[in-house]
Amino acid sequence: KKIIIVGGVAGGASAATRLRRLDENAQIVMFEKGEYISFANCGLPYYIGGTINEREKLIVQTVEAMSSKFNLDIRNLSEVVNIDKENKKVSVKNHKTGETYEESYDVLVLSPGANPIKPPIKGINECDNLFTLRNIPDTDKIKSYVEENKPKHAVVIGGGFIGLEMAENLHDLGIKLTLVEAGDQVMAPLDIEMVSIIHEHLIDKNVELILKDGVKSFSSNGKKVILSSGKQIETDMIILSIGVKPETTIAKEAGLKLNERGAIVVNDHMKTSDDSIYALGDAIEVMDFVNKKPTMIPLAWPANRQGRLVADNICGKDVAYKGTLGSSVAKVFDYTVATTGNNEKILKRLGIDYEVVHIHPGSHAGYYPGAFPISIKMTFDPNSGKIFGAQGVGIDGVEKRIDVLATAIKGGLNVFDLQDVETCYAPPYNSAKDPVNMLGYYAS
Ligand code: FAD
Repeated sequence: KKIIIVGGVAGGASAATRLRRLDENAQIVMFEKGEYISFANCGLPYYIGGTINEREKLIVQTVEAMSSKFNLDIRNLSEVVNIDKENKKVSVKNHKTGETYEESYDVLVLSPGANPIKPPIKGINECDNLFTLRNIPDTDKIKSYVEENKPKHAVVIGGGFIGLEMAENLHDLGIKLTLVEAGDQVMAPLDIEMVSIIHEHLIDKNVELILKDGVKSFSSNGKKVILSSGKQIETDMIILSIGVKPETTIAKEAGLKLNERGAIVVNDHMKTSDDSIYALGDAIEVMDFVNKKPTMIPLAWPANRQGRLVADNICGKDVAYKGTLGSSVAKVFDYTVATTGNNEKILKRLGIDYEVVHIHPGSHAGYYPGAFPISIKMTFDPNSGKIFGAQGVGIDGVEKRIDVLATAIKGGLNVFDLQDVETCYAPPYNSAKDPVNMLGYYAS
């Protein structure tokens, strides 16, 4: 069997290694249009900020090491430019030589990811100080711009995970920050009262936080950012992080079924509208695990899980993807923000009947030094007790509670069951009643 994989980072590399573990004899060819495969996308902001101080640490696998360890045919700087699904062939452009050639497949796996959105805002193409962040070359550009130009001020546009991580990392380098967000809050997966703690924290850290205002134009080659309100910000550099768009041009041109936002539509076995083509990761539409509606959730856990699952299915294992919860966590300066499942905004929009419980327990026993309060919000069905989602904000112990709740949701536990979740306890780590138990007591 000959399997071609498009994309050699999170989902593609997971699929490739799992395929090899399941099938000694398959011919596995992995194409990556960039130079690097299997790099640590999620670590990029921390390399820019200096927390990760060696560039090599970002490169989880090299072409040579991964090819020989797993007996894979990995071709970097090789872009798949066309899919001929009738004849089961792809065209590949070799960016080293400029030549284009064809390669046949029995099964094709698409894990091309998503690109940062760069809208045609007036003046954007004249900004030589404006950056988006997706890969190692983007990281190198930002890092060398900072080193050569020593910017004193930066504007981060977009208050999502990457925007906030970049704000913190640039701040660590002594750069003064303005964060511009068009919505009324940063961190859209959280509800506003939870995220207001983060708004205050950003202001405490001297970040100028501008909400409900979008960018209208750039002028003076990016030295000035002009907002819809008329406010003008003088700056030395700009990070644009307003979300991502599935990189699905070749899938579209091949006639694969896409949703209205350009994501590839797959079934629960990750198969596209073509029987020989699978797709996964940031490029696809997934089913929301809680409300069962189609959605798009570009995160590393789904990409890795789906990569493995695609390989299982190609090798005849018949594994269905259960849907995505969107469990995520981010460090925002001194705080941790974590979330899983559906927040109140989503439930309201879908007209789902819900109830909410808020608690503010300590991260561990109050009499043991170093405990901090955690704010946790849980949404649930008042009738069945089904847990819809949870969000947490605090200094310590946040993500461990959200992880337990994510496990509870996927395992089908309801709010009453939370009373019986038996967590480990000693004063430096917890209270004898875990916050997860407290949620169960309050909700029951
Ligand atoms: P990718 O990992 O992006 O891989 C796709 C690859 O396909 C790319 O390298 C691309 O060059 C290649 N490609 C595309 N088209 C072609 C083609 N035609 N031919 C050949 N190659 C092609 N997620 C989290 O859960 N937690 C985090 O903390 C987190 N932090 C992040 C920080 C940053 C800065 C970024 C950019 C992302 C972060 N993510 C995080 C998101 C996470 O990295 C993605 O969800 C994940 O990498 C998606 O995997 P993927 O395989 O779909 O796409």
